[in-house]
Amino acid sequence: MPQYCSVPGCRNSGGHKFPEERELQLRWRVAIKRRDSTTKGLWKPGKHDVVCAAHFKEADYRFWTIRLDNFQ
Ligand SMILES: [Zn+2]
Repeated sequence: MPQYCSVPGCRNSGGHKFPEERELQLRWRVAIKRRDSTTKGLWKPGKHDVVCAAHFKEADYRFWTIRLDNFQ
């Protein structure tokens, strides 16, 4: 079963799982600007949640750097 991209409005499937490292994971969470509908705080990814390749800069890909300008 394909895992759909966690970014709001994005319909792609597949991609990269959220990093386990807390700082980095927080950067991703801030970058995608997804809100938890219950807490109204930042949405928290589960083990299997992914962000598709469309949100990464090719050059930064291996550094797990999310492309912030794609979320404005
Ligand atoms: Zn996506």
